[in-house]
Amino acid sequence: MSQALVYFRNDLRLHDNPALSAALSQADEVLLLYCIDPRQFAELEVGFKKTGVHRARFLLESLEDLNEQCQQLGGQLLVRQGLPEEVIPKLVAQYKLNEVHLLSEVTEEETQVEQAIEQQLKGTNCQPYFHWGLTLYHPDDLPFEPSDTPEAFKAFRNEGTKKASVRDEFPTPKTISWVANVEPTFIPTLSELGFTQHLNEESNYPGGESAGLARLQHYLFDSELLTRYKWTRNQSLGMDYSSKFSPWLALGCLSPRRIYYEVKRYEQQITRNISTYWLIFEMLWRDYFKFLGLKYGNKIFWKKGIYDKSVEWSYDRSTFDRWCQGKTGIPFVDAHMQELNQTGFMSNRGRVNVSTFLTRDLEIDWTWGASYFESLLIDYDVTSNWINWYFQAVVWRYTHILWQSTHYDPKGEYIRKWLPQLAKLPEELIPITFLLTEEEQRQNNFKLGQDYPEPLMIPNKWNRMLKRMGRQ
Ligand code: FAD
Repeated sequence: MSQALVYFRNDLRLHDNPALSAALSQADEVLLLYCIDPRQFAELEVGFKKTGVHRARFLLESLEDLNEQCQQLGGQLLVRQGLPEEVIPKLVAQYKLNEVHLLSEVTEEETQVEQAIEQQLKGTNCQPYFHWGLTLYHPDDLPFEPSDTPEAFKAFRNEGTKKASVRDEFPTPKTISWVANVEPTFIPTLSELGFTQHLNEESNYPGGESAGLARLQHYLFDSELLTRYKWTRNQSLGMDYSSKFSPWLALGCLSPRRIYYEVKRYEQQITRNISTYWLIFEMLWRDYFKFLGLKYGNKIFWKKGIYDKSVEWSYDRSTFDRWCQGKTGIPFVDAHMQELNQTGFMSNRGRVNVSTFLTRDLEIDWTWGASYFESLLIDYDVTSNWINWYFQAVVWRYTHILWQSTHYDPKGEYIRKWLPQLAKLPEELIPITFLLTEEEQRQNNFKLGQDYPEPLMIPNKWNRMLKRMGRQ
């Protein structure tokens, strides 16, 4: 009789799960485990937790959901707090397990855990098996080694994904034979993990596979929002302008292949247009960053980054704190930071703008911004986050925040939602609150510096546009 342990990482799902499928086909009985690793909750050098409260909530909800699904199949998800490289060998010895199955990750902290587990199991009767399951395309199916991943996204698509196919999904298990007599699971609460912040509102982003699959069904077949995705994806207000799949993708509650095949079904049953194409196109960015992560390893975290660019960064803590708190005095930036702080999510448009403002205008070290996002984002994905930050900070063209604000939020609706103190201003003044004359402030019963912060800076790059607006 062989018994296997499946160690869940960023694959918190039963559908299309390579590690789980392999264990079920190779072993007679399985034990499913998630480790809450204390290193993931440690304080970062920049002064906040590596995993903040929103992401922690999303994780705990995902564990609850996976456990419930296991219970429906007559078992449970064993959740342990501790280092996986210590917890796993103990369980292996305790339950006389013969195999451990887990997903391979990309970056150092995670791959070190893999090496440590492998090391710990040496000399035992237990064999570790590593599986790939993070991307839409399997690395073995692309015509280049990960170390030769093309530098440009366009080349990655043309020379890579266009020449490969997406593999079939692994089946969702209908029955599971469980290792017997395992102690009952214990999933901690936020306060038991040391969070004191009270989150009373129900989140729009409940964690877990069930919620992820429900969101997929909603965005595609129930609402048919996908049909308009190409034209709405750059907005920021509400739940429907983009798919919002990222939080579930990040923890693996949704498999990228499941999304892909559902979009294909949508194309057959509802419509096939530029939007259906574009959603998959956007998901390729996620793959591209994972492959760049495989290529560059730890360099993705370095200040000089993957292209070794030296920049004189500022380390002005009070400026950085005002950016974090959404108190820069630039409404489009602050509204997005308020949304992030209150929900753990921000649109792609927002991320592009706030990262540009921090790094290109305020010239603060981009790694501080990336760390803040790491702590806050419920969809934190190590490669998408760090490489996007680096590209925004030193590789891609400057994003003109004032232009973006008037273009993507012309009536200031998004800003009003997250900065209600600006709601009393006429809509044309909302994006340029920082320029209000004494007279305009008096007329609108509004005091800059009191009702809303004075701007940290007004970039010179905005002068031309301000002139055109008659503001200079
Ligand atoms: P949709 O527009 O519906 O796109 C569908 C999917 O495509 C997304 O869920 C995501 O998986 C993928 N995708 C889309 N755009 C990108 C992109 N630019 N890079 C990588 N994947 C993309 N995304 C994360 O998933 N995790 C992060 O930690 C993260 N950090 C970011 C940091 C910065 C500074 C920037 C500029 C972008 C970051 N992104 C990150 C990318 C992007 O902002 C989010 O993927 C997107 O906003 C998620 O919303 P959505 O699921 O509705 O996206």
